[in-house]
Amino acid sequence: MKTLTLAALLLLSTKSFADFSEKIIGDESKIQDKDFSKNNMERLHRGHNEIVLTFDDGPTPGVTDKILDTLKENNVKATFFVIAEKAKDQPELMKRILNEGHIVANHSLSHHALKDLSFFSWKKTVKKEVLDAHEILAPYMTNSKNFFYRAPEGAWDGKYAGVLNQSEIGKQYIGPVLWDIGGAVEFKDGQYLQAADWACWSKKITVDECLSGYLYEAKKVKGGVVLMHDLRTQSAEMLAKFIPALEASGFTFKNLDDVNWNK
Ligand SMILES: [Zn+2]
Repeated sequence: MKTLTLAALLLLSTKSFADFSEKIIGDESKIQDKDFSKNNMERLHRGHNEIVLTFDDGPTPGVTDKILDTLKENNVKATFFVIAEKAKDQPELMKRILNEGHIVANHSLSHHALKDLSFFSWKKTVKKEVLDAHEILAPYMTNSKNFFYRAPEGAWDGKYAGVLNQSEIGKQYIGPVLWDIGGAVEFKDGQYLQAADWACWSKKITVDECLSGYLYEAKKVKGGVVLMHDLRTQSAEMLAKFIPALEASGFTFKNLDDVNWNK
């Protein structure tokens, strides 16, 4: 569930795994200037006052359900990057995600971060983690016209794309999809400038403090793809406050499929 903030995002207009990687970090002027034909970057959809909520590492009984309740109450659709092995054990939760209009996306088979892989077996591992996961998740992926993949810990290498794009399913994937908001905890001069839910809970940061970090960053970058995790109840509690706070600040909600990637 831990995430790297600096991994490159790889999205091509051909809607397939990108074959190369490029990092564009810290240059705010480039954020609204994305050109997918030249690769995307960590910053997905900043600057439009639109929020895309994404939840990783579920489904988790007692947490995902609470998140679904909150999304329903607020009439917001989100994307769940689920771990396929967990999804297998939670068919009812998976059906609920689907039936309530959310996007189910691929966050690997077992959350094996694709780094430090053996020279002899990396291809097998990559195919297993992405394509075997797809087989399990495919029945739940019908709410989206696209298949989305997010890499555990943001770990990716351009050479994986070459292997995945050899399969018909792999070619149809967009990914790895990263995030704009929620990558790390940063505290300065008495204020959380950003926050990441998993790190908040492990550092014993309160729900309200963590929320303040998410809100600060959302306002600063004027919206984008938000990373949260449906692993701990605190994240569900935070979401119940986060959505109304975002609305009060003038943000609107979109789902990954609704994002005009070329804007
Ligand atoms: Zn994860």
